[in-house]
Amino acid sequence: MTNELIKSWVESANAPNCAFPLNNLPYGVFNDGSGARCGVAIGDFILDLAQVPLKSANHDLFAQPSWNAFMDAGADIWAAFRDEITSVLHEDSPPAPAWLVAQSSAEMLLPFAVTEFTDFFAGRHHATNVGTMFRGPDHALPPNWLHIPIGYNGRASSVVVSGCSVRRPHGQLKGPQDELPRFAPSMRFDFELEIGAIVGKNSAARLSVDEADDALFGYVLLNDWSARDIQAWEYQPLGPFQAKATATTISPWIVTKAALEPFRTSTPERDFELLDHLKDTGPMLYDIDLAVDLITQSGAETRITETNYAEMYYSAAQQLAHHSACGCPMRVGDLLGSGTVSGAEKHQRGSMLELSWGGKDPLLLSDGQTRSFLEDGDSVRLSGRAQAAGYCIGFGECLGTITPA
Ligand code: CA
Repeated sequence: MTNELIKSWVESANAPNCAFPLNNLPYGVFNDGSGARCGVAIGDFILDLAQVPLKSANHDLFAQPSWNAFMDAGADIWAAFRDEITSVLHEDSPPAPAWLVAQSSAEMLLPFAVTEFTDFFAGRHHATNVGTMFRGPDHALPPNWLHIPIGYNGRASSVVVSGCSVRRPHGQLKGPQDELPRFAPSMRFDFELEIGAIVGKNSAARLSVDEADDALFGYVLLNDWSARDIQAWEYQPLGPFQAKATATTISPWIVTKAALEPFRTSTPERDFELLDHLKDTGPMLYDIDLAVDLITQSGAETRITETNYAEMYYSAAQQLAHHSACGCPMRVGDLLGSGTVSGAEKHQRGSMLELSWGGKDPLLLSDGQTRSFLEDGDSVRLSGRAQAAGYCIGFGECLGTITPA
């Protein structure tokens, strides 16, 4: 693996800080007015696969508005296709501008059909912060937390692509002083900064951590919208239900595991040795800088969070291994949310709940407003990039705007 930029005949892909250099090649689904189809981001453009003569993969795999069929074709095809596209777009190959569509002229759609969505709770700082607020510092982490990546089965049906608006949910609310619950719009609507891992291989039996890593196809940014007041009333004993079912927003480009190889890093030191079926067998997290901007209705932007994916206690491979531990079959297109990525410092917290400490310490925004939770008209934008010496790997943006209940 090289830390150097691989140059392309697409000039914008060679610019410093370009999110989509030839080293990246993320996969998306776009529509430029002539139908939704698969494409690969390169610089300011999308390589329209319908136009490219391909040897490594059948065009039928791309003649549909999702990457699921390609994922199902297997890791040998994944590698051969990436090699071929790298060669096709390389600066030594003949330029073919007719194969390119400007990203500015295309609408991005969900890049894959989400089979099922599972959300984990694998960030130690987030789990500690939330546990401290709800149970006090002595019982912040649940007793199972340091032994398994705990999670719950979420809803695939409400996963949406960046740019979709999100309606403030209604739900049952009951404050600590209320005798009975009422049905009303959530007053504590929140975002969660996460990375989503995409399963690219069907399985029928328990996966080892190595097998799980091999089965992962790629990663997206993921905002797991959360209604804290609905959650507080409903979550015991079976966990979040309606509080997390309104919407989950993902970024439109699948950044492949292959593109992230140079950025592998290890999980943190363990308090307890993990049981064998969850033990790390190598570096399976990634060094990815993450940020969140809050944009008010008037357009004022405030950077509210900066953290790194390497803060997670469990990797996606460990989460997938755990998910299959009972024999649960996993399928192509399954989406695994990492859990909120928070760092140790206040400005590294990945949710409003933590940033405002449950509303006790509201955030000051750039236009002088304050926020404890999200208001109607607020937009939340997640961004991510992995930085090498000569290039960076960007994820595109993951944006959602709150509309009134
Ligand atoms: Ca979550």
